Amino acid sequence: MALDLHQKNGNAGQASDLQIKLNAEFANLTQEQRIKRLYDYFDVSEVLLTSSFGGSSALILDLFSKVNKAQKIHFIDTGYHFDETLAYKDQLSAALGMEVISVHPQPEAHEVTRKEQWWIDRANECCGFNKVDPLDAILPNYKVWVSGVMAYQTPQRAHFKIFEESNHLFKFHPIIDMDEAEGNRLIEELQLPQHPLTFQGYGSIGCKYCTFQGKGREGRWTGSDKTECGLHTVSSILTVKEN
Ligand code: SF4
Repeated sequence: MALDLHQKNGNAGQASDLQIKLNAEFANLTQEQRIKRLYDYFDVSEVLLTSSFGGSSALILDLFSKVNKAQKIHFIDTGYHFDETLAYKDQLSAALGMEVISVHPQPEAHEVTRKEQWWIDRANECCGFNKVDPLDAILPNYKVWVSGVMAYQTPQRAHFKIFEESNHLFKFHPIIDMDEAEGNRLIEELQLPQHPLTFQGYGSIGCKYCTFQGKGREGRWTGSDKTECGLHTVSSILTVKEN
C-alpha cells in the first residue's frame, strides 16, 4: 500500500494526522516490528536508508537485513572517512548481504573544503558541502528517510519521535528509544563485525579530521560546541525540502 503523501501530509512544521497515527501505531512495536510495518506503508523504492558505518551502525542494518535485504543502504562518502570505515562498510554489508550505494559531494565543492581545510574553522559549511548537500540531492527521490539515530546520543536526538515529517517527507527513527546499554549488549550478542576503531577507544566515528578517541560522542568535533553534522536535525529536512 503506497501512500499519496501529497494528499495526506500537513504543512511544514505541523504534525499531520498521518504522522500522529504512525507515531501512535509504531510506539508499542518492537524495533524489528516497526521496520516490518514500515513496508506496509511504503514501497522499498520509496525508502532511503542511510548509514555512516560507525560504531553502532550494525544495530539498525542488522534489523533491516532480517526484514528486507532488498533495501539498499546509502553511504554519504565525504572523502574524509577513515580507511577503517571504508573497509568496515564493505565487511559489514557483505556479512549482512546488503548492497551499499555511495553518495559523493560535488567534486569542486569538496576540493575547496579540502584545500582550505574547512574542518578546522568552517566545520558547519564543510559538513554542508560534504554531507548535507549530497543528501539534499537524492532526498526528493524518496518518501521516507530512515536512520539509526538514538535519543541518548545528543540533546537534539533526545527530542526526535519515531516519525518526523515535513513537506511530503517522513524521517523514520525505528531505534530512537534504544539505550546505550541495550545497544552495546545487542552488538555483542549479534556477533556482527564491529568497527575496528571501536576497540581503540573511539565511542563514535565520523570523518577522520573531526573524530577523536572518547566516550560516546565526546570525541566528535572536540573543542567546539558542534554536536551534529546537520544531517539529523529536523531543520535540515525543512531546509532540504523547502528551498
Ligand atoms: S565531519 Fe568534519 S571533515 Fe567531515 S564534513 Fe564535517 S567538518 Fe568536514
